[in-house]
Amino acid sequence: SRSLARGPELFQPERANSEGFDLTDRPTIERVESARAPFESTIWKARPLLAVEAPAGTTEDVLDPATLAKTGEITWASAETVAAAAGAAQPWAATPQERAAILNKAADLYEANFGEFFALLAREAGKTQLDAVAELREAVDFLRYYAARTEGAAPQGVFACISPWNFPLAIFTGQLSAALAAGNAVLAKPAEQTSLIAFRAVELLHEAGVPASALQLLPGAGDVGAALTSNPAVKGVAFTGSTETAQIIHRSIAKHLAPGTPFIAETGGLNAMIVDSTALPEQAVRAIVESAFQSAGQRCSALRCLYVQEDIAPHFTEMLKGAMDVLKPGTPWHLSTDLGPVIDAEAKEGIARHVETARAEGRLMHEIAIPAEGHFVAPTLIKVGGIDDLEREIFGPVLHLATFKSSELDAVIDAINARGYGLTFGLQTRIDDRVQHVTERVHAGNIYVNRNQIGAIVGSQPFGGEGLSGTGPKAGGPLYVDRFRAHPAPQDGT
Ligand code: NAD
Repeated sequence: SRSLARGPELFQPERANSEGFDLTDRPTIERVESARAPFESTIWKARPLLAVEAPAGTTEDVLDPATLAKTGEITWASAETVAAAAGAAQPWAATPQERAAILNKAADLYEANFGEFFALLAREAGKTQLDAVAELREAVDFLRYYAARTEGAAPQGVFACISPWNFPLAIFTGQLSAALAAGNAVLAKPAEQTSLIAFRAVELLHEAGVPASALQLLPGAGDVGAALTSNPAVKGVAFTGSTETAQIIHRSIAKHLAPGTPFIAETGGLNAMIVDSTALPEQAVRAIVESAFQSAGQRCSALRCLYVQEDIAPHFTEMLKGAMDVLKPGTPWHLSTDLGPVIDAEAKEGIARHVETARAEGRLMHEIAIPAEGHFVAPTLIKVGGIDDLEREIFGPVLHLATFKSSELDAVIDAINARGYGLTFGLQTRIDDRVQHVTERVHAGNIYVNRNQIGAIVGSQPFGGEGLSGTGPKAGGPLYVDRFRAHPAPQDGT
């Protein structure tokens, strides 16, 4: 919001975040729905966008994850496409002021095309309207925030930007706009599941004035990403996705690219929330439902493991189940839908296996009904064996519950820290000293107290994790763009 965007010098008091859309306001809803309506059955077509002629790969249909109807067609990049694009990439010659003007113009074009983006976000990524509104806002905010940071040291050269499907517009745009703000040439590799959205975004960035040689789009799966991170023309890599893929890329950079190649990785989390017996139950339950189930749990920040103090657990768990029961899963096209599908059949099967194991072990506490068609997964509550019993990120609407005695608070914090991740953390308590005690000890990039633990506002709440959750610097923060610049090693005379 405008008021939140104001702050100390570092946070650009002169800049305002995007207005967004208020989906509680009837005229705004009508404006959103009529702008989106022409795209209800559009078949989009996407392909590599290059500064040079090059052979492309095969073409495939893209399906709506909720209805399984055709959304578009994507022609993939091949290894030859990547090699040609890397050879044609050129850091742009524009001045910092010109770069800023172009990125700001792209932000305006994104906003002007809101109807098409909301349709694409629903029909390619399964995003609800609420999520689509938040996603476009964040993308626009990244463009404008980084546009204000174009001054500085020289660019690194050619940056590979590799992004995930769960924020197909915001994270995709955030990475490449920071790289472009610093003056780099970008080779952008969106997640294979959301190439149509990325294609429209790059078309608008080109229309705004980013030269084709400074921004090329390489749609493809992990093999295209791997071709990028082993191409010696690449002088830096920005990656957001799973911790496992980040480790593979790190090895590839070490093997193929120059020593000291910058690698920015924003990765997964095993995010926890602690609810003590003084927490306001109504507030905590609402925060939990939003944190665990909004976006069908497909946020890196989503709550995975909930710790409830034993004294309040029976009553609190009943309230939580009641709040789960009134959630409305369905097609994201309708405003009344609370959560849409997961991204694809593979994601659905992986989550289902985890839930079935819990069911077989008698640990399934609650689940709600979902549509039979499409890639839907039921919001589910699972009991874990002990406070240290969750080992891997389940990227869907599955919440794990553990209880603790008041004497075990520090043991819970130790268990959370011992996992090695450190993305988001939530705390619900009305004891001020406890807020201080817990937040000083927990290792997490973003900590949320007495609210939900998803979402971050560009320029006010820089976002990013530590440990297995990321390298930093935080996205949407004052240090991010500098990581995309050349930093010559200090000369010590040896
Ligand atoms: P993923 O790791 O499967 O894929 C991410 C990207 O890496 C995709 O573009 C993919 O094609 C590419 N890729 C896969 N193999 C590659 C290889 N060998 N070399 C180069 N690139 C390769 O992740 P995902 O399923 O798309 O996204 C979900 C994950 O992302 C979750 O773990 C989530 O927590 C994480 N995430 C983190 C943040 C954050 O800010 N920390 C934000 C969003 C998502």
